[in-house]
Formats: sequence, structure tokens, C-alpha cells
Amino acid sequence: MKEIIMFTSSTCPHCKSARAYLEERGYKYTEKNVQLDPVARQEMMSRKMMGVPAFIIGDESVVGLDRAKIDALIDYTVESCPECHHRTRVPKGKGKVKITCKKCTNEFIVHTKIM
Ligand SMILES: [Zn+2]
Repeated sequence: MKEIIMFTSSTCPHCKSARAYLEERGYKYTEKNVQLDPVARQEMMSRKMMGVPAFIIGDESVVGLDRAKIDALIDYTVESCPECHHRTRVPKGKGKVKITCKKCTNEFIVHTKIM
């Protein structure tokens, strides 16, 4: 499943929204603060990304909190266990998938979109 890197700065309000969005969706991400981390700033500059928040999802880059684009690039969805609400990442495009909850071992079926 694709890794998400999010570039942020300490002061940008959109970065807060971006963080809230990723957390609400259950996406796993690594945050790099370009104000505090010169290596991260360099990485962002080398990809010609201007402004934060900016994302690297797999090999793709997204500048700004473009929710639709982010959702489209991410190759999994996050489903909650009907029993304990523990969140599990489910690969997209697999049709019917049987999930075993890692927390309570409940089994449930998720219908993913075929791509
Ligand atoms: Zn569960």
C-alpha cells in the first residue's frame, strides 16, 4: 500500500485541515515540517513543489489539500470493524474482501470497487 508523506509548516492553517482530513479518513502518513527540517525542505524543493501542505503519495505529488486527488491516488480504503470499530486498511479494487479484525478477530466482508 502506498506511503503518504505530507509536507507542512508550523504556521499554515491548511496544514491543520490536511492533518485532520488524513486522520479522519484513517490514512497513515509521515509528516515532514519543512520549517524545522532542512532535509525535508530540500526534498520538497527538488520535486518543485511550491507551498504547503504538499503530499507525496507513492510516486505522485500533490500540492494543496486536493481531497479528490488524494483519495484517487491512495490505493486503499479504511474500514471500521462493525464490532469494535478498529480501523483496518483494505486494498482498493479487489471486489469482495473478507477482513479479519486484528483487534477482536471478528470477520466481516468489505465490498471494494473494481478498478
Ligand atoms: Zn474488531
